[in-house]
Amino acid sequence: MEYIYLDHSATTPVRDEVLQAMLPFYGPEFGNPSSIHSLGREVRQSIEASREKVAKALNCDPSEVVFTGSGTESDNQAIKGAVFANRDRGDHIITTKIEHHAVLHTFEYLQKHFNIRTTFLGVDRHGLVDPEELKRAINQKTILVSVMQANNEVGTIQPLPELANICRENKVLFHSDAVQAFGKLETDVKTLGVDLLSLSAHKIYGPKGVGALYVKKGTRLHPLIHGGGHERNRRAGTENAAGIVGLGTAAELAAGERLAQGDRLSALRERLWQGIKKNIPHVRRNGHPEKSLPGTLNVSFEYIEGEGILLSLDMKGIAASSGSACTSGSLEPSHVLAAMGVPTEIAQGSLRFSLGRDNTEQQMDYAVEVLAQAVARLREMSPIAPRPSCGIAGKSS
Ligand SMILES: *Cc1c(COP(=O)(O)O)cnc(C)c1O
Repeated sequence: MEYIYLDHSATTPVRDEVLQAMLPFYGPEFGNPSSIHSLGREVRQSIEASREKVAKALNCDPSEVVFTGSGTESDNQAIKGAVFANRDRGDHIITTKIEHHAVLHTFEYLQKHFNIRTTFLGVDRHGLVDPEELKRAINQKTILVSVMQANNEVGTIQPLPELANICRENKVLFHSDAVQAFGKLETDVKTLGVDLLSLSAHKIYGPKGVGALYVKKGTRLHPLIHGGGHERNRRAGTENAAGIVGLGTAAELAAGERLAQGDRLSALRERLWQGIKKNIPHVRRNGHPEKSLPGTLNVSFEYIEGEGILLSLDMKGIAASSGSACTSGSLEPSHVLAAMGVPTEIAQGSLRFSLGRDNTEQQMDYAVEVLAQAVARLREMSPIAPRPSCGIAGKSS
């Protein structure tokens, strides 16, 4: 059976070009990049070449790129590092209610254990942050603002340049979790106006367990990991050479294909949505009508549970997701949909389809067919779903 993967926001398969670039570092290129001998120096050169590729994708200087162990680590490093280094300036940090848990839980930790005051900005029904609300939230004691570039559950893209301007005027550091945006949207750090930006390799067809953090020159930041002088004293520990080379290769490939892939994925997504809308009653689309990641579609199927649909899809070889991978399995409704004002019972029937390089039109059509059958069957069993024949909610025959 052909497997149809529609969960690229959770992770992506490693591209063959990326794997081939990585393999030597699990073989002959095993030297320690800090060693003086040529075996070490060769690995060092490959790491620095990779740093240049990531810097090019970000339009920054290579010295401003710090390699980390994940997107999650980059977020932790940016937020905790900025707070610890700027404690003398204030005790207040701002983010949004729709961030990834890597940001949300870091904020909660700082609030609980370091007496840092936190503000979580709301969003409108499309998932957009209001710049005026940010202006009102900033005070004399604000150290840092963190707003994601694009949301991982619904795909909404935030107006980063405008938010960054507000931060700059108030002399507040601005961090963005660009893990979903990097490789899909333009991530020129100068245009975006960020001081700190997080990215991860495994969301762009690179390996898991490696990420990077852009740190604008002159930004005060404490390291989280202490030890040797690796990564210009920003992150101690012998470098993950294979992973870093994989990230550099994936970043370069993604940048070259970004616009063409964006057009292709948008078209595929619209085909999927039109098919769903035409064949399945009582559905609604969550997210922003225009300002959205090209391959992300979030849909609520009323009267049923998302987990049930997921299991039916999986039996037919289709992988999708309810909310983010990290919260699936918990019966908690998505915090993102809740912040957008989606009622709990509707949020619970929501699925995220995130498309990628290998998806085809035929796969979209097949997914619609399987979805229509699964949803109809689950609604037949649901005591609250309207009967197709009479259409009265709440009545079961
Ligand atoms: C996946 C993701 C992360 C976490 O990245 P990891 O490399 O998996 O730790 C953080 N933020 C967003 C928006 C993500 O989608």
